[in-house]
Amino acid sequence: MIAENLRAVQERIAAAARRTGRDPARVRLLAVTKGVDQDRLRQAVAAGQLLLGENYLQEAREKIRALGPQVCWHFIGHLQTNKARAAVDLFHMIHSVDRLRLAQALNDAAGRLGKVQEVLLQVNLAGEESKSGAAPKDVPDLLAALVGMPHLKVSGLMAIPPWLPEAEEVRPYFRALRELRDRLAEQGLTADPLPELSMGMSGDFEVAVEEGATLVRLGALIFGPRPPKP
Ligand SMILES: *Cc1c(COP(=O)(O)O)cnc(C)c1O
Repeated sequence: MIAENLRAVQERIAAAARRTGRDPARVRLLAVTKGVDQDRLRQAVAAGQLLLGENYLQEAREKIRALGPQVCWHFIGHLQTNKARAAVDLFHMIHSVDRLRLAQALNDAAGRLGKVQEVLLQVNLAGEESKSGAAPKDVPDLLAALVGMPHLKVSGLMAIPPWLPEAEEVRPYFRALRELRDRLAEQGLTADPLPELSMGMSGDFEVAVEEGATLVRLGALIFGPRPPKP
């Protein structure tokens, strides 16, 4: 069941990439594991899904221990500054860097652990109060600061656009993230041109791929709908 879901999703990603002349190999599927039990996680890993994403540190710790080192884990949730060290310890990439103090804490933690931590800068495109992310106008300064931190490697941008009923309505937000990335790359703030765009979820990932996503974050479409939070 999960293996079939993964296959179907990969086909839809590849088709969306080809529609816009993109190489499907440039789009990676991040399977989002929040609320998913270990049995279903093992099915995904057995089907070859070795890239997993978690929102919660405590949940992640148990799953990472259980599934072992063949899995690559990305952190996609809101990160408190006092949890920076744990996050650096557990994750290959952190998608949710959105403020200077957090970046400094991650840089310090990575330095102490002898690691260069790969991160994305999370952008709050619509200025939604309920969501994390830096305001687009603050992104150039934040990026410049991050680039100066020796134990961080900034690979691109991440966004969680407003929830809208039709995927097509989300397209302007995905396009805005890509255009922001292109402008930042032109400004020459970074040595390499911020290749990663983490955008697109179960309801809208095909549109995100058409607009340039390199990491799509899918939970429900792979593992089934989540039970409502208690
Ligand atoms: C839960 C979550 C996802 C996956 O959402 P689905 O609708 O289940 O695909 C993606 N990104 C973030 C940041 C999430 O919290």
